[in-house]
Amino acid sequence: MTATPDCELCASTGGAVLWHDDFCRVIAVDEPDYPGFCRVVLARHVREMTDLAPAERERLMRVVFAVEAALRALLAPDKVNLASLGNAVPHLHWHVIPRFRDDRHFPSPVWAAPARARAPARRLDRAALAAHLSGRLRQV
Ligand SMILES: [Zn+2]
Repeated sequence: MTATPDCELCASTGGAVLWHDDFCRVIAVDEPDYPGFCRVVLARHVREMTDLAPAERERLMRVVFAVEAALRALLAPDKVNLASLGNAVPHLHWHVIPRFRDDRHFPSPVWAAPARARAPARRLDRAALAAHLSGRLRQV
């Protein structure tokens, strides 16, 4: 449950930090096909949502939903995928992925084989996303 130096998410943030507190952080994932792909990463080592106290589960999901709402406001995606896999790292985390009908994998998950060779380029201003998050997460 304590930070370990050989854990990649203890040793580094895992991406550009858009928002954080002592409980969790929101990072932007560098994935050219998916601007707006974010992860909400719990600060400590916890494997499953049911290992968290109920109030902590709610707190984590409030952050996940704030990210979803900010991405909807900024990108107007056709769908937002929420996924918690966490098979490779000991930090509970949620992927928040804005999806478009013409993105590389739609309608499959982003981890599946691509459905098309390329997708229309989309841009997201990370500073605008960070500003949205800080506004939405003021009371978390
Ligand atoms: Zn760790």
